[in-house]
Amino acid sequence: MDQSLTTCPKCGSELKPIETTPSGKKLQRCSQGNWNPDTRQTEGCTFVKWINDPPKELDEKCPKCGANLVLQTTRFGKKMKKCSAGGWDKATRQATGCDYVDWMDSKQMLDEDCPECGEKLVLQTVSSGKKIKKCSTAGWDKENKVATGCTYTQWMKG
Ligand SMILES: [Zn+2]
Ligand SMILES: [Zn+2]
Ligand SMILES: [Zn+2]
Repeated sequence: MDQSLTTCPKCGSELKPIETTPSGKKLQRCSQGNWNPDTRQTEGCTFVKWINDPPKELDEKCPKCGANLVLQTTRFGKKMKKCSAGGWDKATRQATGCDYVDWMDSKQMLDEDCPECGEKLVLQTVSSGKKIKKCSTAGWDKENKVATGCTYTQWMKG
């Protein structure tokens, strides 16, 4: 992506300075466009340029193919480790190369006890960006595709 773009490709107006969203992503709006928090809509020119942080090379190797891993942050602020040999073919809408992805657990231990079993709760951010409080004993049995441990969950508002 051309990060030095300063004029709007839609209407030719200047772009505003870079803004940072609450989820930590950076974007630039057209000076003819305004985000209205009341209607949750963009008024005027709707052009938005998302600024992608370049993936960070990690000092770790892909367990599948041995290439370097890179750290990437999604639009929702979730972090994942990806294989640098993997890519995305926009034309065929298919993943190319190595498909190794490791979602980083964004779990945070809370100083709160589970109301069901008394173990500690953890705060987790799911892929949609929502926050959820879960019991720390909760797990997922990949083989049998069933939840294990305590099933207490509480979705955070906001
Ligand atoms: Zn514009
Ligand atoms: Zn790989
Ligand atoms: Zn529990």
